[in-house]
Parts: sequence; C-alpha cells; structure tokens
Amino acid sequence: MVATVIDGKAIAAKYRIQIAQGVTALRAQGHLAALTVILVGDDPASAVYVRNKIRACQETGIRSELIQLPASTTEAELLARIQALNLDDAVDGILVQFPLPKHLSEKKVLETISLEKDVDGFHAANIGALVQGQAGLISCTPLACMKLLEAADVKIEGAHAVVVGRSVNVGKPMALLLLQANATVTICHSATNNLASITRQADILISAVGRINTIRAEMVKPLATVIDIGINRDANGKIVGDVDFEAVLQVAGKITPVPGGVGPMTIAMLMNNTLLAAQARRKISLL
Ligand code: NDP
Repeated sequence: MVATVIDGKAIAAKYRIQIAQGVTALRAQGHLAALTVILVGDDPASAVYVRNKIRACQETGIRSELIQLPASTTEAELLARIQALNLDDAVDGILVQFPLPKHLSEKKVLETISLEKDVDGFHAANIGALVQGQAGLISCTPLACMKLLEAADVKIEGAHAVVVGRSVNVGKPMALLLLQANATVTICHSATNNLASITRQADILISAVGRINTIRAEMVKPLATVIDIGINRDANGKIVGDVDFEAVLQVAGKITPVPGGVGPMTIAMLMNNTLLAAQARRKISLL
C-alpha cells in the first residue's frame, strides 16, 4: 500500500485563512500586525526564503518590511538596527534571516531581538519556556510539524517518536514538543550508532539533518508517519528532503513531500507567531 502524502501546501493555505481572520480582528481594534525581516548579504537561497515570507505576509494581511543590508554590514550596525526595531511600537515581529555572513554572530543577534518580538522562537528564553512547558513563541519549523501531524490525524500520545537531528532551532524543540504531547521520544545525531535500528522502531519518524537519502526505505517501520524537514539540492539542482521519498512512500503510512510539506507550513507558523506577538503586545498596551 502506498503512503498518504501529507499536503503541507494545502494545510498551510487553510491556516493562512485562519490567521488572516485573526489579523483582521486585531485590525478592527486598531492594531495592524507587522513583521520586519532583515536580510544581510546576497545568499540566493536566503533571498528566496525571505521573498516567500513577505508574500505570506501579504496573503494574511500582515504589514511587512524588508530591510536589506550589504554583506559588509558590521555587527554593531546590525545590532543597532535590531535595537531600533525593538523600540519601534509599530513592529510586532523581528526576523533576521540566517545564515549570516561569517563575521556576524548569530548568537548575539538572537540575544538582541526582544523576547516578545522573537517570532522565530529562537531566543534562549523562548526555548527555556518550551523546556518548562510555559507559554512562549515556539520555533516555527517544529511547530509546523506538530500542526501537520494534527492535520493528518496522527496519534502522538503513547507513540514512539524518533527525531534525527539535534540542532537548537529544529531538532531539540521538535523533540520537546513531541514529549509535551506525550510521545516517547528518541533523539538521534551524527554520533548515533546503528541509526537504522532506532529509526525502524519509530511510529513517528522526523528527519532534520540536511543530507540526501538519510532515511531510506529499510530504515522505516511499515505504516509509520514520516516527516521530512530537510532541504537539500540533488545533483540536478532540484530541491529534495532527507528522505528517499519514492522508496519510503511504499513503506510508510503517511509522509510529507519536499517541497510542499514542512516548508509552507513553517512560513504559516511564522505568520501565526507574528499574530500571537501582536495580540500579546496589544494586551500589554491595553493594561
Ligand atoms: P543543523 O546542521 O544545525 O543540524 C543537523 C543535525 O543533523 C545535527 O544535529 C547533526 O548531528 C545531525 N546529523 C548530521 N549528519 C547526520 C547523520 N549522518 N546521521 C544522523 N544525524 C546526523 O541543521 P538544522 O537543524 O538547522 O536543519 C536541518 C535541515 O532542516 C536542513 O536541511 C535545513 O535546511 C532544514 N530546515 C528546513 C526548514 C523548513 O522550513 N522546511 C526550516 C529549518 C531547517 P550533530 O549534532 O551530531 O552534528
């Protein structure tokens, strides 16, 4: 039996409609939700990601501003721009597109963005809130995966979820969200011995590695749900995920494609976080 493909594009489109309604309701109260994106340098992939984010803002009614800075921008200049946006009452969300040119510290950038405007959910305090199970802005990609699992009616409670990848922005928050939803979670990484023996135990298998064919058919339990976060380019320059999609399609029960799976949903969650940030700031200003 061939797996059901989880259509991230269609699910994201539904979310964008809901978010647009929230943006309209907030606007009726006199507050226009707004996102500022900072792009430093001229990395072509980053330019595409930023364009997609700005387009999603237009589709949801969020006011967007793109600040493009040259690759030669100094760290002091970049941090000063962020600090000015922190103080700008009209801005609800600040996103600095990564990767940054080598001379700029991503850590310092993340520390500088104010907590309530951290719509990427990368701030140490937002990650800490996630660890403690408290409310905060949650990293968009892991949140997107949770929403896809929900939309595809995948039972998380009691399931064995295996997350391959342990980055601070993707793998770790992914594992934490699954744990919060009562999955039994295993995290794998580059030093994991016999990866296949672990992935084969997964009811829910999530790959966040960034390497083609990391997950092959023989590594997947029959009828498992497979979520592919990875974005890679194959030898022909085509965008593919970490999962050997055509082969795994024959084994899994449900699977996300790349492109058209986690990617569009991640952008929808960025819009959602911007709306949440705007709503939270509005509540504060009403006090
Ligand atoms: P990182 O490079 O920060 O992390 C990759 C992780 O994969 C690391 O934990 C690493 O282990 C692990 N890893 C590397 N090789 C292996 C291996 N052979 N076996 C098992 N684990 C391995 O990447 P990110 O977490 O930032 O991103 C992961 C992927 O997701 C990338 O392709 C990225 O482009 C994509 N992505 C997609 C998004 C979307 O919207 N769809 C959003 C964000 C990211 P170790 O810690 O030991 O080095």
